[in-house]
Amino acid sequence: MSMGGGGRGSRVSGGDHAAQRAANAQAPRIPNLLPRIAELFRPHRGALAITVALVLVSAALSVVPPLLTQQAFDVGLFPTEGKPNVPVLLQLVGAMLVLWLVSAGLGIAQTALTATVGNSVMAALRVRLFSHLQSMELGFFTRTKTGIIQSRLQNDVGGVAGVLSNTVSSVIGNTVTVIAAFVAMLLLSWQLTIVAVVLLPVLVVAQRRVGQVRARIATQTQESLSDMTAITQEALSVSGILLAKSFFRQSGEVERYRLENERQRDLQVRLAMSGQWFFAMVNVFLSIIPAVVYLVAAWLLQQDVAVTAGTIVAFTTVQARLTFPLMGLMRVALDLQTSAALFARIFEYLDLRPAIVEAPDAVDPDPARRGQVRFTDVVFRYPDAPADAAPTLDGVSFTVEPGRFVAIVGPSGAGKTTIAALVPRLHEVSSGTVEVGGVDVRRLRQEALIESLGVVSQETYLFHATIAENLRYAKPGATDGELEAACRAASIHDTIVGFPDGYATVVGERGYRLSGGEKQRVAIARVLLKDPPVLILDEATSALDAVAERVVQRALDSAASGRSTIAIAHRLSTIMGADEIHVVEAGRIVESGTHAQLVARGGLYARLVAEQAAGYERAASSSAM
Ligand code: ADP
Repeated sequence: MSMGGGGRGSRVSGGDHAAQRAANAQAPRIPNLLPRIAELFRPHRGALAITVALVLVSAALSVVPPLLTQQAFDVGLFPTEGKPNVPVLLQLVGAMLVLWLVSAGLGIAQTALTATVGNSVMAALRVRLFSHLQSMELGFFTRTKTGIIQSRLQNDVGGVAGVLSNTVSSVIGNTVTVIAAFVAMLLLSWQLTIVAVVLLPVLVVAQRRVGQVRARIATQTQESLSDMTAITQEALSVSGILLAKSFFRQSGEVERYRLENERQRDLQVRLAMSGQWFFAMVNVFLSIIPAVVYLVAAWLLQQDVAVTAGTIVAFTTVQARLTFPLMGLMRVALDLQTSAALFARIFEYLDLRPAIVEAPDAVDPDPARRGQVRFTDVVFRYPDAPADAAPTLDGVSFTVEPGRFVAIVGPSGAGKTTIAALVPRLHEVSSGTVEVGGVDVRRLRQEALIESLGVVSQETYLFHATIAENLRYAKPGATDGELEAACRAASIHDTIVGFPDGYATVVGERGYRLSGGEKQRVAIARVLLKDPPVLILDEATSALDAVAERVVQRALDSAASGRSTIAIAHRLSTIMGADEIHVVEAGRIVESGTHAQLVARGGLYARLVAEQAAGYERAASSSAM
């Protein structure tokens, strides 16, 4: 198939946001979350091992300076007898300087490693998610808002990335710093260490409570971000803006955005503030400790326990250096909970199984029946339709023999587009079979199926790229000559060379505005390049005015020649010459035959023809006035 149609996807209205939010308020439960996260890091085992080694080395090194400080005081500055011992002091200071320089270097190396690992994991995850989503069936995208999907890819993976590259390194670094500090403190004075740590259990309990609150707010924030992306994506797209402008609904869109934005603001403020009282308390506690240490040291001295000035200075220095790593560690625990929620959301998408997959023993079409399309007793219900509703298609059977032109007509909503969508297997039939090239589409190799089909629909999608690039989407290696031949056949070559940049003209959403008929002819040229045995025209000309329609119709006729064609038509004038016309009403084929046979029969087709003729006459007479 050479292009996706579109436009028929369900555009969920603003009212559904609340429901969606309620459904998603909790992060999904994913079994084996931790092993799965660990699995993502597996390719980076080597780098992680080096990181841990570096961290251990710097930790071991960081035990030493406090001991040197103690010596600097007790041996260098205030030796038991005589003046300060300057040579010893110089040696100690020199040793400290070297140690700190080495630690700083190790720190930089650690950051480089963890940033690389974190971002590599994230990048791999993003590609995996993107390619997984590519394999999802069309129905998934009509059910799910584009913005929501984009948000998982951008915000959630991005959120995880932040945690991976910042938090993981600080977890390791801080843990080790804290342990090293405790070791140093114990070596200096176990009595003072006890004083310094009695307050910690209180902090740990409080931290757990704060963690739960923050994780909940973070999940809500992520949901709200995803809703905002969805609104932006819907409202600020070309079709969204057109819709808003044509119904004068801009203020409504702004209001929708404003409300969600306020929610986001409140959540962000709550997120920023939650746990602040707790961190403030931690700060106060930790700042009080030195004072307490002095008091306890005085008491110890009174009890004749030897505590040197160097010990007290070194001890309070280490203890003060403990503050930030300890607080960092507490925050990290919270961040990790948040990122577990993000991982869960990402895994939830990765775990979605596409409803339509290639059969393990898939085969190629039968060369003897190349270009044949056959529907046999096809019944189809949309998966999201109510169970008691009548099926959208009910017992549809017809055959398009190779090279024949078959038209499907009928009132709006009869099921014509649905029939067209079943040929490329965009949906799975509920019962019956759809065969292309003599093989059930469920048994065909997906690639072979898609190669057999070319689709031109009412809504033509051109990428924001040059015309040549858009054309080569159908056949990457096509030569300039092939492009030109296809465009001549599609009656668009002369128009294209008339543009200032010719085939290099950039088209699409933000590019050069092609008219509907021009876009349609580029799309036809794209199909011609692909040269499929089966052509599906889904109301290809229905959006065009009469003049443009005639030009496009000429292009279509040239495209259809030598191929099996299924044309879904609203304007009956375009399919009068069809080899066979099937008239669909409420999901069933009610009449079949040539134009002449069906008109003679005097049934639904004859009525539709009469109605359209009357409509044209009305239009003609009103424009004549
Ligand atoms: P036609 O092309 O003849 O106008 P369609 O094939 O588009 O008709 O639609 C047939 C019926 O299926 C309609 O009642 C329509 O509302 C319904 N329908 C179309 N697309 C979907 C969808 N994605 N989910 C549920 N119902 C759908």
